[in-house]
Amino acid sequence: MARVMHETDRALRGLTGYAYEIKCVFCGVFFRSSRIDASFCSSTCRSRFSRQPAKRQARLDRARVAVLELLDHDETEALQEIAQLIADRLRTL
Ligand SMILES: [Zn+2]
Repeated sequence: MARVMHETDRALRGLTGYAYEIKCVFCGVFFRSSRIDASFCSSTCRSRFSRQPAKRQARLDRARVAVLELLDHDETEALQEIAQLIADRLRTL
């Protein structure tokens, strides 16, 4: 689940370009990413996860919860970014 870092946090940690802390869907470790739609800390976790289709529903549930949390906290900018990512991706399918 992505956490949008506050500007002060970013400055303190020197993370310009890595705006998000993401919890890896497979191993649960937090990692930094410039992409809010990142899900895995590594290609290893991505491939291990893909071999476990039973976890797909859990991933979908976490995504739904993440979006609902953003809605509850009026994270309009983050929601618009997510909506744009989804629209862009669906356009290429
Ligand atoms: Zn991982």
